[in-house]
Amino acid sequence: MQTTKFREARLPWYTIYPAVSEFSGAVGAEAYEEWLRNLPADDPVSLYLHVPFCRSACWYCGFPTTITRRDAPILNYLAALRDEIRLVSERVPKTLPVSDIHFGGGTPSLIGPAEFLALMEFLRCRFAISKTATVAIEIDPRTLTPEMAEGLGAAGVNRASLGVQSFDPIVQKAINRIQSEAQTSAAVEVLRRHRVSRINFDLIYGLPRQTVESCVETVRAAVAMRPDRLALFGYSHIPSQVKNQRLIEAEFLPDSAARAEQYAAVAVTLIAAGYRQIGLDHFALPDDELALAQETGRLRRNSLGYSADTCRTLIGFGASAIGRIGQGYVQNEVTRDSYIQHIAAGRLATSKGHRLTDDDRVRAAIIERLMCDFEADVPAICVAHGSDPIRLRDSAERLAMLAKDGIVDIENGFVRVRREHRFGIRAVAAAFDVFRDGVMYIPQQLNAMQSTT
Ligand code: SF4
Repeated sequence: MQTTKFREARLPWYTIYPAVSEFSGAVGAEAYEEWLRNLPADDPVSLYLHVPFCRSACWYCGFPTTITRRDAPILNYLAALRDEIRLVSERVPKTLPVSDIHFGGGTPSLIGPAEFLALMEFLRCRFAISKTATVAIEIDPRTLTPEMAEGLGAAGVNRASLGVQSFDPIVQKAINRIQSEAQTSAAVEVLRRHRVSRINFDLIYGLPRQTVESCVETVRAAVAMRPDRLALFGYSHIPSQVKNQRLIEAEFLPDSAARAEQYAAVAVTLIAAGYRQIGLDHFALPDDELALAQETGRLRRNSLGYSADTCRTLIGFGASAIGRIGQGYVQNEVTRDSYIQHIAAGRLATSKGHRLTDDDRVRAAIIERLMCDFEADVPAICVAHGSDPIRLRDSAERLAMLAKDGIVDIENGFVRVRREHRFGIRAVAAAFDVFRDGVMYIPQQLNAMQSTT
């Protein structure tokens, strides 16, 4: 008999806990300023810089980004980004050491090479960037120029994440993203030539007109270029919230069963090609940092997904950027105009956030281990946080229902998700989410979770 009830189709991806939807205006620029001033001076930090511009709209994309053919808005935004870097660096106790930098978007590779080099130089003036720092950037192979690849190498970028999604021309047409294998291969080659040697591909399954065969062919073509990592995301069709997606022909979307087959076929093909599965949706070669982090129990989850980054502090720059400080989370103004206005007025652009409680921290730690390892030693995590497991009684009740339905096994508080139910990991994580009271899934619906965000 099924005891758990399906009450809520949309769960967070639990990149962070609490989810962004729980952020509030109770944390604003004033709190962030105080948190920055109290940062430990010698702890390395990570930096995230958000660049929300693209040249054309992909119809599946849910990221807020400005489509522009002109460079002027990008240059204008870069000026604000530099001002924000200055504002933040003036508020921290001393020049902070940095071990990880990520440029995300949008398409940050649209910044011209000279401007990118100048931005990196400015960061080096304001922060003590380690010689061994990981410097990563998201790239659209369709717009990457050889000059930009050279500029990235010269600026010290050593990791690039390339949007690929599907190599099938029929699927590409259905999502308005025409990108040949040759374009992607040329981008990989020119990046590697300029010492941007660690490469990630983003792939998507569940797209319109996508089939198991086309997924497998895409993976075979991708594997031939030997990226170090691949992220495999399920397309999430929510046209009521994402305007672009109204252009997608919904009648050609694969159903839940077809999506599950596509995911399984991609996973099998990647594993046969020598990649290791990392968490829910990543694959990596055995010598990649993610695979090594997983092997040694150091895999982390942050606002960008799975990570080997061990920094406790992430400083976010740019519109909508999320930061994490010991005391909690902050997010900048989401719209570009509003972000620029705040920075131009000489103030931090923090619009909302969340101050972490002791209870949040212990729940976040448990959820992170579940999302990374599909298991968590709940009593040990509670002890490490000086918390009494009895305070998680609400979670115990929800877990008991999941155990009764054969989704998890529980032994002396150690929770392990059964292999066949790994797609349902977010439902298990939700058992510890105090902001989602009573969210539960029946096993048959776990595969359908691939389609939710
Ligand atoms: S998928 Fe990437 S390139 Fe396409 S619109 Fe979204 S952010 Fe821009």
